[in-house]
Amino acid sequence: MRHSGSVIVGIDNGGTKNNVTVLDGAGQFLIDRMLEVPSRVTEGTAAALDALAVAFDNGLRVTGFDRADVRAVGLDTPGPASADGVISSKGATNFALPEWWGFDVRGALEDRLGVPVVYSNDGNAAALYAHYAYHGFQAIDRSSVSAIIGTGLGGGVIESGAVVRGAAGMAGELGHVHIPMTGLLAEGQPMPHCACGFSGDAESVASLTGIRRNLLPYWLTRYPDHPLAGTPIDEAAKELRSFGERGDEMARKIFEQQAIAIGHLFTIAANFTDPNTYFVGGGVVEAAPEFRDWYLSVVRANTHLRAEQLDVAEFSLVPDLDMAGARGAAVAARSAFPG
Ligand SMILES: [Zn+2]
Repeated sequence: MRHSGSVIVGIDNGGTKNNVTVLDGAGQFLIDRMLEVPSRVTEGTAAALDALAVAFDNGLRVTGFDRADVRAVGLDTPGPASADGVISSKGATNFALPEWWGFDVRGALEDRLGVPVVYSNDGNAAALYAHYAYHGFQAIDRSSVSAIIGTGLGGGVIESGAVVRGAAGMAGELGHVHIPMTGLLAEGQPMPHCACGFSGDAESVASLTGIRRNLLPYWLTRYPDHPLAGTPIDEAAKELRSFGERGDEMARKIFEQQAIAIGHLFTIAANFTDPNTYFVGGGVVEAAPEFRDWYLSVVRANTHLRAEQLDVAEFSLVPDLDMAGARGAAVAARSAFPG
C-alpha cells in the first residue's frame, strides 16, 4: 500500500451520527470523548460518504495529523453486511434506500480517501475494543465473547485477539443462536419469535425488540394494573428500564428473563470456544449500579461453567460503549496494517 503513515483513524457509522477516533503508533487513543458529525445515511450513499470524509478530517484536525500520516482507516457500520463491507443486497435497517442495497461502502470510502479501509460490523468492533481494553498486552493470547443488548442483540467472538469472522462473514451472530427456554419462560408464556424468522433465539428475549414483541405483551397480561399497561407498546418497552432500576416487580421479571437468556447463550459459548472473558454491554448495564450488578449476577448464575472453567473465566462490562465502535474499528485496521 502507498501509505505508511503512523496513525490509524477509526470511524463508527451509525443511523444518525459518525463518531471518530485516532490511534497512534504506541497504541494510545488520542481522542477521549465523542467527536460526532451527522451520518446522513438516510440521504443516500453520496451524502453518507461526504459525512464519513468530514468525520475523518475532523479526527485529523483535532489531533494535528494530516492525510499523509494515516496508515489505514477502520470503518464500522450496523449490519447486515459482508465481511468486507458490502451492505446486504436485501437492505438493512440503517440503509433503507435501494441505492444502499449491495453497496460496497468500504471500497467507496477507500476510493474517496485514498487510504486503505478495513471494515468491521458494529458488534464485532465493540467486541474487539472490549477485548483489547480489558486484556491489554495479553489481548492476543486471550479469547472472549461479547453480548451487547440494544435494539437487537449484537456482539462478537474473539479468538487469540482476532474477530472470528467465518467463511461468509457471519460468525458471531449471537442474537440468532437458539437457546434453551427451559427455566426461562414462565408458565403459559408463548415461545418468543425473532424478526429473523427463528423462534426461541437469544435476540427474541435479550433485546429491546424482544421486550416489545414478546416479553412485555405477555407480562402485561400478568400485571394488568401496571402503570405501563395503558402506554403504547413501543414507548412502554423503552420506559421499562427505568422501572427496573426502581425495583418494579414486573420489570425485574422481564430483565431477569433477559439475563437468563444471556447466561444460556454464554453456556453455549463455554462449550464452543471456552473463552477467557464474557462481556455484557448495552443500555441495561449502563443503568443504576444496583440494577447493573443484579443483572450481571443473574447472567453469571445462569452461565453453567465446569470447575476448570470457573477457575479461569471472568465476567465484565463492555467499557466506553459509545466509543467502542470507532475504537474497535481502529484496532481491527491496525491488526490488518501493523505498520
Ligand atoms: Zn433471530
